[in-house]
Amino acid sequence: ETIGENFERAVARFGGHEALVDVAAGRRWTYAELDAAVNEVALGLLARGVAKGDRVGIWAPNCAEWVLVQYATAKIGAILVNVNPAYRAHELRYVVEQSGMRLLISAVSHKTSDYRAMIGEIGFAQAVFIGERGWDELVASGRRGDPATLRRRAAELAFDDPINIQYTSGTTGFPKGATLSHHNILNNGYFVGELLGYTAADRVCLPVPLYHCFGMVMGNLGATSHGACIVLPAPGFDPEATLRAVQEERCTSLYGVPTMFIAELALSGAYGLSTLRTGIMAGSPCPVEVMKRVVTEMNMAEVAICYGMTETSPVSTMTRGDDGLARRTETVGRAMPHIEVKVVDPETRLVVPRGVPGELCTRGYSVMLGYWGQPDATAEAVDAARWMHTGDLATMDDDGYVTIVGRIKDMVIRGGENIYPREIEEFLYGHPDISDVQVIGVPDERYGEELMAWVVMRPGAEPLTAGRVREFCAGRLAHYKIPRYVHVVDSFPMTVTGKIRKVEMRERAAGLLG
Ligand code: ATP
Ligand code: MG
Repeated sequence: ETIGENFERAVARFGGHEALVDVAAGRRWTYAELDAAVNEVALGLLARGVAKGDRVGIWAPNCAEWVLVQYATAKIGAILVNVNPAYRAHELRYVVEQSGMRLLISAVSHKTSDYRAMIGEIGFAQAVFIGERGWDELVASGRRGDPATLRRRAAELAFDDPINIQYTSGTTGFPKGATLSHHNILNNGYFVGELLGYTAADRVCLPVPLYHCFGMVMGNLGATSHGACIVLPAPGFDPEATLRAVQEERCTSLYGVPTMFIAELALSGAYGLSTLRTGIMAGSPCPVEVMKRVVTEMNMAEVAICYGMTETSPVSTMTRGDDGLARRTETVGRAMPHIEVKVVDPETRLVVPRGVPGELCTRGYSVMLGYWGQPDATAEAVDAARWMHTGDLATMDDDGYVTIVGRIKDMVIRGGENIYPREIEEFLYGHPDISDVQVIGVPDERYGEELMAWVVMRPGAEPLTAGRVREFCAGRLAHYKIPRYVHVVDSFPMTVTGKIRKVEMRERAAGLLG
């Protein structure tokens, strides 16, 4: 089944049911209305000569048109290229050239007005701006189009055609374009929705970026493959707008990366969240305390943790409602249906015993077709037996529950001891004055590497010194795991998907230590 076919089945079953709400724009669509709007965009793209397999970029913050373009490109078999809203001109140029982009759909608003300047700067002429004449013309030409051409195109599409190029977050280096098929992402969205128990009664609040698979797959496809409604609270992340949208739109599900939930927890008491029941925390390590507070303070008794990566559509493991609170907060759950997971020694690639950390590998329908135009990088990541080597370190227990211990690239080796920063972060998170914490390795002549903790203080708390932190750890953490340096900050360098850029922290730390 293609995404278009799946969407049309939802339209047939849930036509009069609400499908999409763009809160900031004050607009809403039923499934039937959304389908009509999608078809206009699809026919408009056909009128511009967009062929099957052509790359159509979208560079815009969250908005209803993003969703229209997603389903319209899927219906005509164009390959949607998600462009990170935080990109600057040189990154845009890379993505436009690397993907061989034919058309770029962008948006101009007070926040993003320099998109036009940057598109001009790289000299790319094929851009259409949402809310301007180019977009209106595209839609108008679609309105005049012949629906039969859309049906003819649909008949030429196959479920395993490439449909989407998603560049990874760029947390550990330069982003790579994962090429994904209908089959990859539709199934992943479907099973995420299935495990969350979505029905047409669910309303899914998405403060996460649509440009990322968290938004467009787990969110949009997860919702529409079950007849649920997509609620977009705001163009960018805004904790107040998110909580207000949950309250006013009576959302049943809420997604976020841990930093988003941390911001929402500080405000959640002031909002009525009684309709919430479930949601997803994912994208980076989910502190146990934050998960527990989300369950109790945000009324999200069934909230799940998902683990995944862009290259695997994205989700590979997920917690289930009946896993018990400990497993639901301390692990990333077990393999998704139809997905295999194993933990191997990164050097020998042999499976390690349960409980021993190693590189997590996943296999199944979700593994990408490959990195766009990078066969060597693909061969490095996906082996001959189609196992995706994730670059993440994890353990698996006897029942198949996976715990992420960190990224291979973030592991610190101090005096020959392997240290997983996550463990120390979890421990320091228990300090009453610390609101958020990240731990990195910094070069050290004697030990090779030393630990440095970056801490964000709770409002009103005195900045912590390294001495006070060491006192707190003494006797409770092995001596080599106690951070040597402490750096108090207001926030961490982050990707737009809400991931901490430890690469950048390490560069800045080198400057701090001289
Ligand atoms: P890049 O590959 O460009 O460096 P990235 O890996 O951050 O960036 P994504 O594909 O968006 O790009 O993120 C996938 C990564 O996010 C995983 O490999 C893992 O390190 C991390 N991650 C995702 N979910 C979780 C989770 N629940 N717990 C811990 N880490 C997670
Ligand atoms: Mg990655």
